[in-house]
Amino acid sequence: MKNHNSLAQGREYLAIPGPSVIPDAVLQAMHRPSPNIYDGELIEMMPALTRDLCRVARTEHNLAIYIANGHGTWEAALSNVIAPGERILAPASGRFTHGWAEMAEGIGATAQLIDFGTSSAWDFERIADALRADKAYEIKAVLAVHVDTSSSIRNDIPTLRALLDDLNHPALLMADCIASLGCDRFEMDAWGVDVMVTACQKGLMTPAGVGFVFFNDKAQSKRAVMPRVSQYWDWVPRANPELFYQYFNGTAPTHHLYGLRAALDIIHAEGIEQVWARHERLARAIWTACETWAEGGALHLNVADRQDRSRAVTALRLTDGRGTALREYTETQLGLTLGIGLGMEDWDGCFRLGHMGHVNAQMVMAMLGGVETGLAALGIPRGTGALEAAAAALVS
Ligand SMILES: *Cc1c(COP(=O)(O)O)cnc(C)c1O
Repeated sequence: MKNHNSLAQGREYLAIPGPSVIPDAVLQAMHRPSPNIYDGELIEMMPALTRDLCRVARTEHNLAIYIANGHGTWEAALSNVIAPGERILAPASGRFTHGWAEMAEGIGATAQLIDFGTSSAWDFERIADALRADKAYEIKAVLAVHVDTSSSIRNDIPTLRALLDDLNHPALLMADCIASLGCDRFEMDAWGVDVMVTACQKGLMTPAGVGFVFFNDKAQSKRAVMPRVSQYWDWVPRANPELFYQYFNGTAPTHHLYGLRAALDIIHAEGIEQVWARHERLARAIWTACETWAEGGALHLNVADRQDRSRAVTALRLTDGRGTALREYTETQLGLTLGIGLGMEDWDGCFRLGHMGHVNAQMVMAMLGGVETGLAALGIPRGTGALEAAAAALVS
């Protein structure tokens, strides 16, 4: 809620880790009357849209699109390759892995969770132990959340692939890139990922409502021997539609498709390598500011090692538990909305900065300036010179 006796009047900034900032070009592309869903432009734009989505995911394989959020894609992906009674392994470094594992249980699978807490990336020794113990190859898939948005931990997918290969374990490698696609480097085919799920409202900069499941031939072989697959989630007709309505098993998400088209044009005009590089440089400036604040002793980054940090979201902990108070201040007094402390032991003590998608350097500096102002207003001790340090990181 905006406070009208404050400095919040003006264009507000939603700096949460999804939904992300929507480019004006995406909003404008969606502002149109309903198109014909049986003939014409909408149908003709699908092959290029699919191809351009696969380019972002760095895959030459298959894509099924769903009218769904990220949770929907979790269920869609599982429903195609995991039968009731089968086992999945879920190495968890934050809330989202738990959520995906719970969903697997919901469709009748048995989830084996390895919990690394909320501040540590995967420990490959423990994952190797679990895979080695599975002599009968009962584990059919490893659910790998690339960036866990709750903790802001980024996990190392190529090393997980190498581990599965070393152990000759046939489990499918299924990645959740909902927070990382279009932000952090991700290369589905080169990294040997069999199934990847994502959604449109984070790095893809489009209003929530469309989700994606990418899958390769190994995943399709498992799909082919499934005893049954729910007709709505079945990826086969969606990935190989003979008729337009099969793309979505019913009415297409008409306006979303136009928005996505505009978003993909923005991504490919910049170039995916440069999109990753921009996120990297902006993230480094943000970390530098946060590390400077941390010198005051009252705040610290949730993830200690830079290598394990997301380039799209940063979780912070305040020792005095005033994360919620800080968020309320920046929102009502400054017009800056920060992310809640999702899935942490101490929700009120944590907050998150979203820096995914349509974000540039001046927006990052504004966000950091807002946090600095909030910390000052609340009298939270902090190291000085955080903004200068961030500026220096941006120009270096
Ligand atoms: C946002 C997110 C989800 C959930 O997506 P919804 O669209 O909110 O259902 C799942 N996993 C990760 C890593 C996310 O960032």
